[in-house]
Amino acid sequence: MSNTKPLAYQLSYWEQDSFFRDVDIVVAGSGIVGLSAALRARELAPSSRILILERGALPVGASTRNAGFACFGSVSELLDDMASHPEDAVWALVERRWKGLQRLRQRIGDARLRYESWGGYELFRAEEQDVFEQCAEAIPAFNRRLRNLIGISETYRLASQETAAFGFRGVANLICNTAEGQLHAGEMMRALMEMAREAGIEFFNGIAVQSLEDIGAGVEITTAYGWSFRARRVIVATNGLAQQLMPSVPVYPARSQVLITAPINSLAVKGSFHYDRGYYYFRNIDGRILLGGGRNLDIEGETTSEFGTTPLIRSALVKLLQDLILPGQPVAVEKWWSGIMGVGGRKSPVIAPISGNIVVAVRLGGMGVAIGTLVGEEGAELLLG
Ligand SMILES: Cc1cc2nc3c(=O)[nH]c(=O)nc-3n(C[C@H](O)[C@H](O)[C@H](O)COP(=O)(O)OP(=O)(O)OC[C@H]3O[C@@H](n4cnc5c(N)ncnc54)[C@H](O)[C@@H]3O)c2cc1C
Repeated sequence: MSNTKPLAYQLSYWEQDSFFRDVDIVVAGSGIVGLSAALRARELAPSSRILILERGALPVGASTRNAGFACFGSVSELLDDMASHPEDAVWALVERRWKGLQRLRQRIGDARLRYESWGGYELFRAEEQDVFEQCAEAIPAFNRRLRNLIGISETYRLASQETAAFGFRGVANLICNTAEGQLHAGEMMRALMEMAREAGIEFFNGIAVQSLEDIGAGVEITTAYGWSFRARRVIVATNGLAQQLMPSVPVYPARSQVLITAPINSLAVKGSFHYDRGYYYFRNIDGRILLGGGRNLDIEGETTSEFGTTPLIRSALVKLLQDLILPGQPVAVEKWWSGIMGVGGRKSPVIAPISGNIVVAVRLGGMGVAIGTLVGEEGAELLLG
């Protein structure tokens, strides 16, 4: 029988002296934000020693477990946001998402990202006629605003006539965001990790940061193994888990469950799709459907940093797949997984100093693919600027 107990050990003199001495910058967390922060830190401090500490063998939060929507806001979501946030703040966030996406695409390239500009669609059922009409009415003004912000003349358009071509059942209306795309989240993250390695950034996977203490001349970093070392500065990019290190940061974990089907013959669905006020999302990938969401069925239970899926949400997703997305088509679910987002009372990210030598860059919500590049870069600029 193999010994699978967690390791318990202290660093040897050699390990301490070679691997953890003269460290300038530590980034905790290697999601899109941590990697973007590390890459920007390298630009700002070319000769510094930069270490990434990641608790998982892979980045295990949201960045490798999401849906890969390159989205920046559907009409109903923006209207919802405007009910609780000042309108200018909503547009400012849209602009940041858009800019973040352009930056990500420039940095990695569309071919490597497997970026497809197939559009994003919002689905409305017959009983959502009121919401649909409000959204349809808002389109001309939203398009005018976006013309200035992102330079596209008709971002949103009515697309209800396309429902039949997609094969959906029970969908009365569609609104298309013509500037929305989709990408391969795994390739995005592999590319960023390769760039970080090429930039001389050192990775330490399987090391969870347990606590941080700013001692003025630097930061004492204690790992989950019990040993500690010192770095001059730290960026915390642990998103939904940030409160474990920084209890005062207003962010909490929000799980989202996802399925992917087996390949489907002649799949008619093409694009990314938002349903039920954004609580459900699905897209095509490699001739399959990727479908996730349903957190609203059990908000309390899904406010967790534990991975896993639940019978309640699994059955809701399967029902949606069979009734609405692929009605009358037998289809097998090949895989389930979940990811952990970081959310809070407001939708904007938290990029803030915690002390003289520690900055946090967290709370990406459901839009980290779009905004993660800028959030990481701004975190590094705040720390080193
Ligand atoms: C199922 C799902 C679908 C989504 N779909 C989309 C989408 O289609 N489009 C979109 O834009 N966004 C989407 N999102 C949101 C997006 O994925 C996130 O906003 C984004 O990935 C957050 O990036 P991050 O780097 O801040 O966090 P993460 O990717 O969560 O990275 C944080 C990292 O910190 C590590 N970590 C945590 N604690 C510690 C510690 N103590 N020590 C060391 N390491 C630690 C974690 O292991 C993790 O790797 C989705 C999210 C989920 C969960």
